[in-house]
Amino acid sequence: MSYDLSPRPLNPAPKAPPMIWPNGARSALFIGFDVDAETAWIGNNPSNVDRMVTTSHGGYDARVGIAKILQLMDELSLKATFFTPGWTALAHQAACEDILKGGHEIGHHGYLHKMPDRERLDETFEEIDRGFDALKTALGVRPVGYRAPSGENFPELLAYLAKSGVRYSSSFRDDILPYRHAGQGDQEGLVEIPVNFAFDDWNFGMSSRTSPRPIFGRDAVLSLWIDEFEATHAWGGVTTMVLHPQVSGRPMRWHLLRDFLLHARQKSDVWIATGREIADHFETLEERHRRSTMATVGRTAGPE
Ligand SMILES: [Zn+2]
Repeated sequence: MSYDLSPRPLNPAPKAPPMIWPNGARSALFIGFDVDAETAWIGNNPSNVDRMVTTSHGGYDARVGIAKILQLMDELSLKATFFTPGWTALAHQAACEDILKGGHEIGHHGYLHKMPDRERLDETFEEIDRGFDALKTALGVRPVGYRAPSGENFPELLAYLAKSGVRYSSSFRDDILPYRHAGQGDQEGLVEIPVNFAFDDWNFGMSSRTSPRPIFGRDAVLSLWIDEFEATHAWGGVTTMVLHPQVSGRPMRWHLLRDFLLHARQKSDVWIATGREIADHFETLEERHRRSTMATVGRTAGPE
């Protein structure tokens, strides 16, 4: 494969339109969880399937993490989006059903958490189809939101997702406001709810034998999260979190997340919403803008 390295914006999406958040809110908070479970450990490294201790990092999701996170969301009366690989839904059906029972949104997160690969399009699309099938079989849902496993994407995949009925993506790191991806042909692009990588708990709270990394404590992470959230709030953006029950469902990290969410929740002018609600709101604004533009054109083109 040869690569097109010519200078151009590598994301051709137009700029984010001005945002007016609902109910006079100044900013939005999107609490997103990735329910990877064991797929985080076997998706890109299938030989790990025979390493029970390595995969037990992910096993924490179904044994402890998901329930503790749901308990927290319930206690704080918050709704979140849980991006769930199809494999997880089939392997841990009861735990995933509890997510739905809690009134949360289920999003698409691949089947086996394989990183999308532009050089293996067939395999990448199959991963999307199998994810849909598994979520339908295990939970009876057809998600409209997608977060890429290992956070990778490219034009063919965006188009395939749009064709499959996905309405929004939440993976890109290039904005603080939702925007619409460039479409292909007649197909409109997805709405993007960009993530803030500073809110990926894996960066601070996961270390393993195969991938040893420093772990950061409460003070470091809480102050980072609050400062980043407050600055995003001041700029009127969306704070999108990338959380994992196998990280933030651990005892100390659960309390840290709780403290952060309490901080965010006590502000009266933050809209805390699921991905689907944010995508719906974005589309409502687009529609309103379209109608007012048409009305203006109608007025200028009409007889005096
Ligand atoms: Zn993931």
